[in-house]
Formats: sequence, C-alpha cells, structure tokens
Amino acid sequence: MRYCKKCVMPDTRPGIKFDDEGVCYPCRHHETKAKTDWNKRWQELEKLADKYRGSNGNYYDCINTVSAGKDSYYQTYILKEKLGMNPLLINIDNFSWTKTGKQNWSNLLQKFGVDAHIMSLNPKVCKKMFRMGLEKIGKPGWYFDLAIYAYPIQMAIKLGIPLVVYGENTSYEYGGTLGDKETYSALEQINNDVIKPIDWSVWLKEDPSLSMKDFNPCIYPSAEEIKRAKLDPIYLSYFVPWSQYKHMEFARSKGFKTLDDTGEWKREGYIEQYNQIDTVGYLTDAWFKFLKFGFCYTTATSSVLIREGRLTREEAVKLVNEEDYKLDRKMLKDFLDFIEYPEEKFWAIADKFANKEILEKRNGVWRLKKEVQ
Ligand SMILES: [Zn+2]
Repeated sequence: MRYCKKCVMPDTRPGIKFDDEGVCYPCRHHETKAKTDWNKRWQELEKLADKYRGSNGNYYDCINTVSAGKDSYYQTYILKEKLGMNPLLINIDNFSWTKTGKQNWSNLLQKFGVDAHIMSLNPKVCKKMFRMGLEKIGKPGWYFDLAIYAYPIQMAIKLGIPLVVYGENTSYEYGGTLGDKETYSALEQINNDVIKPIDWSVWLKEDPSLSMKDFNPCIYPSAEEIKRAKLDPIYLSYFVPWSQYKHMEFARSKGFKTLDDTGEWKREGYIEQYNQIDTVGYLTDAWFKFLKFGFCYTTATSSVLIREGRLTREEAVKLVNEEDYKLDRKMLKDFLDFIEYPEEKFWAIADKFANKEILEKRNGVWRLKKEVQ
C-alpha cells in the first residue's frame, strides 16, 4: 500500500489517484479551496435558488436530503435561512437510532421549522438484504445505501420538485471514481462507486421469497425519467466550502449534540464522535472497508483533519495504527441483533472478505501487515 505524502489515505481507496509528488487528489482539491472565488459560487447558488423558489407556488421549492447529522443542520440552514427556500427534508430511517441522534433529529426540525418525510424501509426486506449483502459482496449496507441515493430522486419525480440538494461530493472531497472534476451537478452521483451496480435478478435468485415489489424504495429512476422530470440534483459543497469540523461547530451552536456531549457512547475505531452518530449497527458496513482496502473511518477523518490543519500527519499515523482496525462491540452486536445472525458466522464471512495481501491475523484480529508510516 502506498500512502499520500500529505494525508494518510492509501492508494487502495477505490478511484483515488496520486500525483507525481505522491499527493492524493483530495489533498490537491483542498488546496484549490483557498483559491476558489466563493463569492462567485454563492451568487451562482442564489441564482439557482431564484430559479426554483416559488416555482411550485406554495409547494416545496426543493428536496433536502438529510440524516440527523451536523451536515443536515448546515444544509437546512443554508436552504431555509440563507436562501429563503421552503425545503422538504427527506430522510431514510435508521434501523436503530442512538438517543443522541433522535434528539438531534427532533431538534433539527424544531430549530429550523421545516417539514420532513422519513422513509422507513421494510425491516423484513432490509434484514434479508443486509444478510445477503454481507454474505455475497461483503457490503451489508448495499440495499440501505441504495435507498439513500434512489429514494429522494424517486420522490423528486413523483412530487414534481426538480431541485434536489445533497451535501458534499464525496468523490471530489474524499476520493472516488468520479473525483477528478469539480461539478455542481449530482446527476452522476449514483455512479460514484459507493454502490456497485448489481442486477436485482441476482438477489431474487438468491432469495425467491423476495419480489420486485419489495425493492420499491431502492429502484433508481431511469435517465429518461430523470430527464423528463427536468431534475436538477446539486452538491452544496460546490457552492460553499465544506468542512466536517466547522459544520459540527455550527450545528452545535444550533443545539446539535455529539456523542461526547451526551456521553452516550464512545465508539471504538473512531477518533471523533460527531460523524454519522445517529445510527448504531449500520456502521458495521463501513468496517468492511478495512477488511477489503485496509482503511476505515479513522483514516478518512484524520485525512480530512490534516487537510484542514487540525491534525499533523504524525499524530494521524499514530491514531490510524491504534484505532482503524477496530470494530466497535456495540456496533457489531446491534447489527447482528438486527439481522438475527450468529457472531461466529459473521467472523467467518469477515475472514472470507479480508484482503490477505495487505492484512494478517494477529491474536485473532485482522490487522495491517505493515503499519502506516
Ligand atoms: Zn492526501
């Protein structure tokens, strides 16, 4: 594995590229932020808001795709308070929530005074899909992640709301297959490699008790349907500089609580307690990145913090080696309880997907063969 000279991101991250100096594209993209004319970008956003504000009469001006997280606070603030729009928030329900996340969710709606629509996925179907995702592709959350992408787009078409707002362009900000170019349009987001395209027939064959009707919230509309509805999905990160840390601070000023604030849970394998804190077992999905690519949340968060000058590379290297391989016990238990799966079988699956070129088992735990330097 090769690591970026500036941050701690390895070249095993799907779609990431390094330049001749051994620096990853997300680090280079971060450098361009200082040279970006954000006033001009803001004006572009205002223009877009002017185009859609009131275009539906008194109906919603846009769909704001949210969780209960810090970025959702920031997005809602920008749309509602800064741009004077009337957004409809769309959230895919967690199969289990932290108490902190629930509080943050109700506070978000209270604080900004917005309508929200929560899609709760059929738990029976979810369980089956999580189990199959785990066993077949080593990505238990495939189905859930697809809902996050597909459902707001479906609803935008059905409700006749063309403007769909997403937070950051993850490919561009953190590295990914679509990460080379900076673009405001999120039309291509579904192809960013977070969700591998897998034909529904594969799952139907695997579990004949399922039918296409069960997959409704996850069917991504065709390019034709999207075009006909004149959808305009956008990344807010194109128009305003994106910072996880600053958004956390902003959200806290609006009553958002981190897991540190409430003392609810100190997650193993994490160096912060403010990203993705509404959910518990679902995060087991992300740990499979460690098994396949040798990095997980600590690497991702540290890299962002290094770019923003909040952590040195040396500090990050230490943290990554200490934390990144860990799978939090509570997280795993919650996940296994939800899918009703024996732990022994889970570890056997983990062994199957572990990338033996870069990982080895030490004291029964998968670790990097060579620590990050
Ligand atoms: Zn880098």
